[in-house]
Amino acid sequence: MGGHFRTVADQCGIPCQIGCGLSIIRPMLRGSCGPVARRPVHRDAPESRSSDMLFTSRTHVSPNPGTVRTMELLILGVGDAFTRKHFGSSGLLRSDSGLVLIDCPDPIHRVIAEASRRAGWQVDAHDIHDIVLTHLHGDHCNGLESFGFLRRMTRAQGGDLPLPRIHCPQPVADRLWERLAPAMDSPMADGRRSTLADYFEVQLLDPDEPREIAGIEVSCRFTRHPIPTIGLRFRDQERIIGWSGDTPFEGDHVDWLSAAGLVVHECNRGPAHTPIEELEDLPQDLRRRIHLIHLPDDFDPTSTSMHVLRPGDVLPQPN
Ligand SMILES: [Zn+2]
Repeated sequence: MGGHFRTVADQCGIPCQIGCGLSIIRPMLRGSCGPVARRPVHRDAPESRSSDMLFTSRTHVSPNPGTVRTMELLILGVGDAFTRKHFGSSGLLRSDSGLVLIDCPDPIHRVIAEASRRAGWQVDAHDIHDIVLTHLHGDHCNGLESFGFLRRMTRAQGGDLPLPRIHCPQPVADRLWERLAPAMDSPMADGRRSTLADYFEVQLLDPDEPREIAGIEVSCRFTRHPIPTIGLRFRDQERIIGWSGDTPFEGDHVDWLSAAGLVVHECNRGPAHTPIEELEDLPQDLRRRIHLIHLPDDFDPTSTSMHVLRPGDVLPQPN
């Protein structure tokens, strides 16, 4: 969704004098969890300059993994903004230290209930105190209204629950209340107009500084979706899970995600999203790690060798 889209040429990650917009496959001699082999190469620049320095810096992983030993990711919804069959793409991380909701589509309470029942998890919204919000398109944030109202009413009735925390980048935080206020700023019991702070505590995510949420180290990177949007990496002491967020195909973003042993990547029709053909061109080692989400209803799961996610899936899956 969005009002304007970038051109194909804009998807090339490096400023270019001639706007070539080209990408080619170039295997890189690194480990299985190393950077993606697909990277932009500019014909007007010496190959040796295009590359390793840029990719090394962008794939840097901090030496401080989260404090929890293991995390699991429950897939809640796999659909896009127009789905008639699914819920909006979203997930729920579980660690020894708590739960982290990744995006909050409507109807969030049913989304959580149905996926957790499929997975055998005993979870509802009152168990979730941290929400990572990638961007403000409705299929990713419309559930915040009912999540926030329920939590506020429960707390007002004496429920011993914390104010839920929304973790998002500055541009999302700047317009979050603008998005929610028309439905949520009316007075409640105390006679004054409600504010965002009555419902949520906002904590900023900074692409330059990983932070810990529920014992999980969380890193983010802005994508080229039409509105400010982040992709995510989640790290415990055993693994990294990548989450593309909504994004057109971008070699640098895939490269950043490829530090993860498991990558949840969106797949939908461009230009605001990533066509399946772009992902099919990636090296086999990476395609083996990619799990597809944010799919159109008519996507044929038999058309790809990559794993196609379903609601209720729990990652990592047993071998
Ligand atoms: Zn979007």
